[in-house]
Amino acid sequence: MNCYPCARENMDAAAVAICSVCGKGLCLDHAVERELPLVQRVSGWVDQSLVHILCAECAEVKTLTD
Ligand SMILES: [Zn+2]
Ligand SMILES: [Zn+2]
Repeated sequence: MNCYPCARENMDAAAVAICSVCGKGLCLDHAVERELPLVQRVSGWVDQSLVHILCAECAEVKTLTD
């Protein structure tokens, strides 16, 4: 899988992570680490506090709702 934001800019970067909210592939430059408490059971993620990898758009939404 390739990085989605990079692909939109016609760049070819391999994805090293996947946004746990929207499922986009992300390279290291575009991956945002966020520690989230329980809840948010998104496509099989376990229910515990852990670091989620988010894309920039999803990270922004999370910040606004904090
Ligand atoms: Zn990228
Ligand atoms: Zn996302």
